[in-house]
Amino acid sequence: MTTTFHALERLLLPAECLVCHALLADHRADDLVCPVCRSRWRPVRPPWCERCGQPEPHFGPCRLCREWPAALGSVRSAVWLDAGARAAVHALKYDGLPRIARDMTEVMTRLVSAPTGGARLVPIPLGARRLRARGYNQSLVLARALSERWRLPVAELLTRTRDTPTQTTLTPAARLANVAGAFQVRNGEFGMRNGHAISEHSSIDSAFRIPHSALVLVDDVFTTGATLAEAARALAGAGCTTISGLTFGRASIPDFS
Ligand SMILES: [Zn+2]
Ligand SMILES: [Zn+2]
Repeated sequence: MTTTFHALERLLLPAECLVCHALLADHRADDLVCPVCRSRWRPVRPPWCERCGQPEPHFGPCRLCREWPAALGSVRSAVWLDAGARAAVHALKYDGLPRIARDMTEVMTRLVSAPTGGARLVPIPLGARRLRARGYNQSLVLARALSERWRLPVAELLTRTRDTPTQTTLTPAARLANVAGAFQVRNGEFGMRNGHAISEHSSIDSAFRIPHSALVLVDDVFTTGATLAEAARALAGAGCTTISGLTFGRASIPDFS
């Protein structure tokens, strides 16, 4: 079904770059963004806060990650959310073009080092209402594309307890309040049963044990990290101790350093 749809799409849509509309070479006909536009995606580079990957503050400790749960180690983003990268995120989320995840993860895996073996990729879940409207979760689409490139399993461990209002216009503090308590670890799948964390030494069958493997939260965009921090808080509550985060884009917050 997907293959038929894909073939039909190729017939109906000329293979041109989504951003600049240049025609794509035949061997790139599966890409949605041309190499030139891709090369304009501006990598996020050090110096940065070792933990949250935000450009180093001019003085004092980093304010962005100081409230994060201890289990959340490092968070990295591949590119700055400039116009070109924003177009890619927009296509992924609003134009119903999940295939663009292939282009996005090519850049992500090139710019960010692969997690250590055994890590699981955990997509940030969408609320039920948004999932119905979009038909897919863009973070899961990214996680699956990353999973193919890195040969790491995807673990959909989180659910969203409620639809949170869109974050785009909120201040950092308001974003934290907005997502507070928004995530839950799936009951019975990951060290939780009936909402109670199960210790590793419990006699309950091993399927319910908290895995030792590291978890990598995957999302499309990082702005203040409030969403990743809240998701990590839920996982830490279920006993997870090694969590990191990875996003395609990073939005700059001009008044926050
Ligand atoms: Zn282009
Ligand atoms: Zn930081």
